[in-house]
Amino acid sequence: MKTDRRKFLAATAAFALNTSTGVAGTLFQAKGSKAVNSRDTLDPIIEVLPSAIISNVQTLHRLSGNKPVIAVVKNNGYGLGVDTVAKIIESQPEVMGFAAVKVDECMTLRNAGIRKPVLHLGMATESESAMLASNDVQLSVYDASIQKMLESISRELGKPIRCQCYIDTGMCRMGIPYYRAGSWMEKLAASKAATIEGTFTELSEDADFDKEQARRLIALRSEMKSKGVNTGNLHAASSHGIYHCNEARLDVVRPGIALYGAYPAEAEPERKIAPLSVAFRLVARVLRVEQLRPGDTVSYGRHYTAKENVWVATISAGHADGYLRDAVKGARVLINGATYPVIGAVSASHTIVEIGQEAKVKPGDRAILVGPDHADIHPNNLSSVTGVSVYDVLMHLSAKLPKVVV
Ligand SMILES: *Cc1c(COP(=O)(O)O)cnc(C)c1O
Repeated sequence: MKTDRRKFLAATAAFALNTSTGVAGTLFQAKGSKAVNSRDTLDPIIEVLPSAIISNVQTLHRLSGNKPVIAVVKNNGYGLGVDTVAKIIESQPEVMGFAAVKVDECMTLRNAGIRKPVLHLGMATESESAMLASNDVQLSVYDASIQKMLESISRELGKPIRCQCYIDTGMCRMGIPYYRAGSWMEKLAASKAATIEGTFTELSEDADFDKEQARRLIALRSEMKSKGVNTGNLHAASSHGIYHCNEARLDVVRPGIALYGAYPAEAEPERKIAPLSVAFRLVARVLRVEQLRPGDTVSYGRHYTAKENVWVATISAGHADGYLRDAVKGARVLINGATYPVIGAVSASHTIVEIGQEAKVKPGDRAILVGPDHADIHPNNLSSVTGVSVYDVLMHLSAKLPKVVV
């Protein structure tokens, strides 16, 4: 049969994969066929748990002495979807606004209808900055040459540009060095092209040096005050600072990973300070259940050999979906209430687990690779058994995975 190319193109255009949270419960929508529900797929999905994110916001707010929260939603909302996360927490009174590092993600927030303040933490070209400013996204500024650009954008838009001053207090990554910031800020404050909404720094997550960095930022504020310059809200603490550096909690806090329920450093002591709830699940399905014979080997590289008759199950998610290749170092997968070890090798779209002497799982069963439901699949546990940073466990989740808010 000859394919009608025009019809084919029309059909693909009418096909939508719900990677965000548009229509509740609908995963696929294609012209001429029934919608596919998100409960009715064998492909992996991310389940997002709104009550957990909200309770984490409240926990971090309390822990920081009731300071307003700028929710960091960079890198695809740490894997959960930048707009998915923002829509869930925008109406929380503890949430003052949002921050992301990439231009694209700040614009995604505005395009999704987010109204609270958005701070762009990265750097941008003039045309990007003009687009951000005209969508009321605050710019992070530190470069001495920024003033000319702000003047030109401000002329074009007919309004002052909202900025936050990015101060390098010792991390030596981004921002203007604190010992040169004073005269630069004075000039910026004097310019009609900019309004200073805040002044912030990034901590190096070293217990003693964090305190020194906070002192440097506070000293800058005093210096500015004596010159009649308002620095706006002062902020420094990310998740680690909120947990470990009282002195850095300042006017506002800026958590990322903790919002999603993962602890920034050593999970156990942090859980004792303030427990968080894991706010997502990486869910796949069992596709195949087979019994191996003694001597059979599993997957690429043949790293696993069956010693006796043993059942194994193949699961529909792999490293291309963001699951860790290093999961073979001791990670387990939750199926029907029990966890099973990952064996062989994690391939792009498949992971294999050892079930044991009895076939206790069957094709179609839900397999949870990361989530709140068992200590073995907690993101910090995956991090500790594999040696992979907990940030990678979240941020490497594929942005293409559909998000289902449950
Ligand atoms: C990523 C980031 C944060 C949030 O960090 P977490 O460790 O995830 O809490 C805060 N501030 C800046 C500037 C960042 O880049």
